[in-house]
Amino acid sequence: MQTIGFIGLGIMGKPMAKNLLKAGYPLIVYDINQEAVEELVDCGAMAGRSSKDVATKSEIVITMLPNSPEVKEVVLGANGVAEGAQPGTIVIDMSSISPIASQEIAKELAKQGVVMLDAPVSGGEPKAIDGTLAIMVGGPQDVFAKVRDILLHMGSSAILVGEIGSGNVTKLANQIIVALNIAAMSEAMVLAVKAGTDPEKVFQAIRGGLAGSTVLDAKMPLVMEGNFEPGFRIELHIKDLLNALDTAHTVGVPLPLSSQVLEIMQALKVDGKAKEDHGGLIQFYEKLANVEVRK
Ligand code: NAD
Repeated sequence: MQTIGFIGLGIMGKPMAKNLLKAGYPLIVYDINQEAVEELVDCGAMAGRSSKDVATKSEIVITMLPNSPEVKEVVLGANGVAEGAQPGTIVIDMSSISPIASQEIAKELAKQGVVMLDAPVSGGEPKAIDGTLAIMVGGPQDVFAKVRDILLHMGSSAILVGEIGSGNVTKLANQIIVALNIAAMSEAMVLAVKAGTDPEKVFQAIRGGLAGSTVLDAKMPLVMEGNFEPGFRIELHIKDLLNALDTAHTVGVPLPLSSQVLEIMQALKVDGKAKEDHGGLIQFYEKLANVEVRK
């Protein structure tokens, strides 16, 4: 079995790396958070000393980091993946970053014969733990074919969408749909409660119909408990919507609804809620209407 390097052991990276260990792959891990590294070592992984060290010892290097600047630093920076990688090494960046950054990083790596896929995921922490993420991939078909089985230990689907960057374009589309769904759910449920109905009963009554969604099923139970532990932090969703607007403006597409939801998220950030789950967006509407959507 190929040795896999895994860099970025946060909310998502940790369970994804554990699933690769369970599948039997030798794993070398690195994170600036030493505690996260130790947790993986306890599960059977080897600790890398740096991103470069991880790349030196791996045939495939997976990164799961916050945003484009971190991926650029880890892959192309000092003591980074590029310094340790051999020609033929495959880099799979599974972070959600700007598609333009993915293309830039891949171009740099290609100069030394290293190939890259962008393969962001959807599904959040529960699906990362279950190994049932939806994985959207950009890059060469032959490279995708080589790593598809590895991806399917972390996800229940892995779809090659197109050339490098296409994975992150798809992820931006995904994040627009999720953000707007959460905002729609929030607007509707605040109305339902202020108008005197029981949110649990409204939720049960509509979830099987056309308004039902994965977002509604995942977020409503948490909202009703007042549980806004992340999950997916508001600050990360702001990052995704900023990347979406940036990309949209580059290719000439206006995003009127996404920009409104971005401003709602900015307001929550100013209100000290940047590290809460994006389901906490409902608190913006609750404040406006002076009502809480709780059981
Ligand atoms: P996180 O902040 O929990 O994890 C990021 C990890 O990267 C941290 O452990 C951090 O210490 C590490 N890191 C940062 N800079 C580093 C560096 N220079 N070298 C080594 N390690 C470094 O974030 P997360 O929630 O796991 O998300 C990771 C990516 O996945 C993001 O792009 C996010 O948008 C995306 N994503 C998250 C979710 C979710 O529900 N949390 C769902 C889908 C996609």
